Amino acid sequence: LTSFWRAISTQAAEALKTQPSQLFIDGKFVDAASGKKFDVLDPTTGEAVFQVAEADAADVDKAVKAARRAFDQGEWPRMSGKQRGKILYRLAELIEQHAEELAHIESLDNGKPVVMSKIADIPLSADHFRYFAGWADKLTGKTIPCDNVFGKFFAYTLHEPLGVVGQIIPWNFPLLMLAWKVAPALAAGNCVVLKPAEQTPLNALRFAQLCNEAGIPPGTINILPGFGPTAGGAICDHPGVDKLAFTGSTEIGKLIMAAGAKRVVPVTLELGGKSPLIVDKNVDVDKAVEDTHFALFFNHGQCCAAGSRTFVHADIYDEFVEKAAKRAAKRKVGDPFSDVEQGPQVDEDQLKKILGYIDVAQREGARLLTGGKQHGSKGYFVEPTVFADVTDEMTIAQEEIFGPVQSILKYHTTEEVIERANANCYGLASGIISNDINFINTVSRSLKAGTVWVNCYNVYESAVPFGGYKMSGIGRDKGAYALEHYTQTKAVYQALEPNQP
Ligand code: NAD
Repeated sequence: LTSFWRAISTQAAEALKTQPSQLFIDGKFVDAASGKKFDVLDPTTGEAVFQVAEADAADVDKAVKAARRAFDQGEWPRMSGKQRGKILYRLAELIEQHAEELAHIESLDNGKPVVMSKIADIPLSADHFRYFAGWADKLTGKTIPCDNVFGKFFAYTLHEPLGVVGQIIPWNFPLLMLAWKVAPALAAGNCVVLKPAEQTPLNALRFAQLCNEAGIPPGTINILPGFGPTAGGAICDHPGVDKLAFTGSTEIGKLIMAAGAKRVVPVTLELGGKSPLIVDKNVDVDKAVEDTHFALFFNHGQCCAAGSRTFVHADIYDEFVEKAAKRAAKRKVGDPFSDVEQGPQVDEDQLKKILGYIDVAQREGARLLTGGKQHGSKGYFVEPTVFADVTDEMTIAQEEIFGPVQSILKYHTTEEVIERANANCYGLASGIISNDINFINTVSRSLKAGTVWVNCYNVYESAVPFGGYKMSGIGRDKGAYALEHYTQTKAVYQALEPNQP
C-alpha cells in the first residue's frame, strides 16, 4: 500500500476517495446485477488501485431500457435545441472546473504524463462538448419545392435523432474518446449507452456525475464499465439499440459491423492505422527529427493516427537516422506524476505485444538504433525504440504496434513514396514535412488517408472531421460531419393548394 500511495500523486490519491465505482444507469450509480467487480490497475506499478462494478448482459438490458424510456418518452429529444445546448455548455464548464482531478485520474488510469492530461486530454474534452453544444440549435433541414403532375407541393426535411446509441471506446484517450462519441450524439437529441475500455473506466464514471450536475435527464446517458465480449457484445446485440459507434482495433471493428448488419442498424467505426509521415529532402533536419519524433512517440505511441512509418528522402537519410536515434534515447521515461515525456504503456498485454514486435523486427533484419527493451522491471514501461532500414514487407511496417517504436524507411522519388505510403490496408492519417509546395500539393492529394498533416502532426480541432479510409474505418468523428451519423433525415411533403390529391 505504501508503494501505491508513493507511486501516485497526492491529488490522484485524493481524487480516488470520491471516485464513483458503480455502473451509471438511469441517472443513478448502481451495483452490477451479478454483484461482480473488477480491478483497475495502475500501469506504473501493475498494482490494483481501485475496483469498479462489472456490467454484463443483464445490466446492458437495464441500461438500454432506461435509455429507450428516456428517448421514447423523456424530455431530452423533445426539448428545444437551445435548451439542450445550454445543458451541454454547462457540462463543458463542469469538465473545466474539475480539470485538475480529472487529469490526475486520467494519468493514474492510463499512465500518460499528468502534464499531457492537463494540456491535452481534459481541455480538448471540454472543448468538444462546447463545440457540439453550439450545434444543438442549428440542426436544420431544407425546404424543397415540388411541382409535378399531381400538383404543387413543397417538401421539407427534418434531421431527427436516431434513438438509443450504443458506444464502445478504447483506453488511449479515455475521456477524449468519450467526448468524441457522446457530444455529437447528445447534441442531436439521442440517448446513449456507453462502455469505456476495461483498462480505463474511471473518468467515464466521474463524467457521469458531471452529467447529473449539468442537468442531463436520467436515462439519457448510461455508462457501463465491463469487458468487450460480455458488456460490449450485449450492447451490439441488443434489439433496443438503434446505432453502434466504435473506436478500437480493426479486428473488433469487424465484429461490431457484423453485429450491426444482423439488425440493420448503422455503424460508425474508427479503427487502427499505420500512418505514413513523409520527410522531403531540403528540410531542416533537426526540426523534421523533432516533428517525426512527436508524431510517433506522443501518448507513448498509443495513437491510432501515430506517424508509424517515417519515410525519409535518401539525400538526408543518414543524418536523419542518427539524429532520430539520439532524440529517442534522450526521451525521458518514468513516473507519469513526475517531469517525464513518457509513462508506462496501458497494460501488460500491450507491453508484451510491443516487445514481441521489437523481437520480430530484429529477426526480420531491421536495424535497432536505440531502445528495444522493457524500461525497468516494474510496471509496463517500454524504452523509446528506433529502427532504421525498415522495408515495406517487414511486420513492423505492416501492422499497428501501438507503442513507442519508430520505423524509418528510405525513399528516392515522389512517385515511389506515394505508392509505398498507400500500400497498406489502413488509411487513417498521414503527414508531409516539406518546403516544396508542389511536393505538398501532389502528395496530399495522392495519399489515401482521412487526414493529412502538412508541416505539423497530431493537431486535433473539434470542428475538423477525423476518420479513416480503407480498413481504418467508416464515417467521421468530430465536426459537423459527425452529426450526420447521429441524425436521420425525414422528408415531409405538404400540398400547397386545396383539393390536390
Ligand atoms: P479493442 O478493439 O480490443 O478494444 C476497444 C474496445 O472494444 C474496448 O472497450 C473493448 O472492451 C471493446 N471490445 C473488445 N472486444 C469486444 C467485442 N467482442 N464486442 C464489443 N466490444 C468489444 O482494442 P484493445 O484491446 O484495447 O487494443 C488492441 C489494439 O487495438 C491496440 O494494440 C491497437 O492496435 C488498437 N487500438 C486502436 C485504437 C484506436 O483509437 N483506433 C484504440 C485502442 C486500441
